Amino acid sequence: MDALPESFTSKAQRHDASTLKNNIMDMEKIASFTIDHLRLERGIFVSRRDKTPAGDVITTFDIRMTRPNRDEALSPKALHAMEHLAATFLRNHPEWKERVIYWGPMGCCTGNYLLLSGNLESRDIVPLIRETMDFVAGFEGEVPGATPRDCGNYSFMDLAEAKKAARKYLDEVLSDPREENLNYPE
Ligand SMILES: [Zn+2]
Repeated sequence: MDALPESFTSKAQRHDASTLKNNIMDMEKIASFTIDHLRLERGIFVSRRDKTPAGDVITTFDIRMTRPNRDEALSPKALHAMEHLAATFLRNHPEWKERVIYWGPMGCCTGNYLLLSGNLESRDIVPLIRETMDFVAGFEGEVPGATPRDCGNYSFMDLAEAKKAARKYLDEVLSDPREENLNYPE
């Protein structure tokens, strides 16, 4: 067997299971953990941009709906209802549907992530997020995909809270977003 290139072997050694536990403490913090969450406002932020091996750029947006550690976070049930509605809306949007890769709640329950294909800025998607939140805030009827066949926890939803949160975010943030609502704190 040919010898593996030096860089590959050293990487393989570093990731050996017996040393992984110790090395976790030395790992770099991932980018989203380096934002000062105590100064973060509500808004739409570019969390990261990634390039796929094929050369496409994917922009990850931070759709932040409550101020971390200062406001009350959303409930997981509200975020779940919002996930079904927002994902359905975005994947059917005539202009944007081809670019939509993913919408989902943050584990900390202060917002959502939206992944779109393309090298984008926060400003580019303000109208799209307004439309999305308007759809959620005004939604009446059965939440799409909220059935035992389509979802892993279909009754775990709070539509009323999702609508309330969407309305508040629209009125208080998206109606007139400022610098601090579109760019992460320095
Ligand atoms: Zn679900």
